[in-house]
Amino acid sequence: MSANDAFHIAVLPGDGIGPEVMKPALDVLHRIEETTPGLKFRFTEAPAGANHYKDTGKSMPDSTIKLCEEADAILLGACGLPAVRYPDNTEIMPQVELRFMFDLYAGVRPCRLVPGAPSPIVDADKHGIDLVVIRESTEGLFASMGKGVVTHDEARETMVITRKTSERLFEFSYRYAERRKARNPDKGTLTCVDKANVFKAFAWFRGLFDEAGKRHPGVKANHLYVDACSAMLVKRPWDFDVMVTENMFGDILSDLTAGLIGGMGMAPSADIGDRHAVFQPCHGTAPDIMGQGKANPTAMILSAALMLDWLADKHEYKPAADAAVRIERAVDKAYANGVRPLDLGGKDGTAAMAKAVLEALE
Ligand code: ATP
Repeated sequence: MSANDAFHIAVLPGDGIGPEVMKPALDVLHRIEETTPGLKFRFTEAPAGANHYKDTGKSMPDSTIKLCEEADAILLGACGLPAVRYPDNTEIMPQVELRFMFDLYAGVRPCRLVPGAPSPIVDADKHGIDLVVIRESTEGLFASMGKGVVTHDEARETMVITRKTSERLFEFSYRYAERRKARNPDKGTLTCVDKANVFKAFAWFRGLFDEAGKRHPGVKANHLYVDACSAMLVKRPWDFDVMVTENMFGDILSDLTAGLIGGMGMAPSADIGDRHAVFQPCHGTAPDIMGQGKANPTAMILSAALMLDWLADKHEYKPAADAAVRIERAVDKAYANGVRPLDLGGKDGTAAMAKAVLEALE
């Protein structure tokens, strides 16, 4: 990236509260651009989601797919509405389609307790929570999506774990742990979460994890069974750093970890492949609160920070990494100054939350 280049960002606001939380995130990115010499963005907005399907019969037009293909990164609000469905009764989920289309195998789900935000875990504020679940996102039990066999007497879904995807996933995860350690020497542990004591497939998964670890001696690698891991997460989440796991386990564990830090409104996410990546909050379109200015934009704003960090790593462009840290600090400062979203029991709606974060941006 040279000083004159701009990062081209595909912006898919989506449905429900998606566009409501996207606006504050874009406002933050505009402010970052104004205050970071050399860092420039070019935003192109495009339709995707249930409303688009209602109008056209497609979850997203070809022009959106082409834009996503060409852009440097994809920022997505949230898509899908319970009342809008395909003829087979499933919801419109372009975010899942993009995962398969662009082979976004690494689902990164950071879980950091913003100081001052309430956690259901006793003493969480004293210890702090700062962990990351990396969820394989293209295979595992989800490989069976739409292919399950149901008869009168039994139902079958098949889990698929491949060498190719697992090797890429583990390489990504070890590197992720190394980057965390480079920033904070207390970090740098990677836990493989599986069920290797019961299933051959997971024993094999664990073997591939150990094999990849030989190339990353600086990372402290260990293993946990998913059941034991769940119990430990709600007792001592501060003992964890980076976890890597199969798709279905990751789906469940990452909702659990979002709950540890105040819920979906606080949890950012990224779906990352070798070339493309989508950044979006963990939450859905929240139709129950849409159009009322109640949505918490924190997860979306933190997803924008994740995007900057990924761009920085991919393009070896440190100002973007510094900008990501500035956004996280601004969120922390806004909460330290007393702002509290409605979903955390506070009084502040989307606009007040957005204003507080913008004001805290140094
Ligand atoms: P999906 O299946 O698309 O993930 P969902 O119905 O499981 O959707 P959400 O749409 O995330 O879940 O909503 C779950 C609950 O959390 C709803 O009551 C919603 O109002 C609330 N919620 C989700 N996101 C936010 C947010 N950003 N701010 C405030 N409340 C939120």
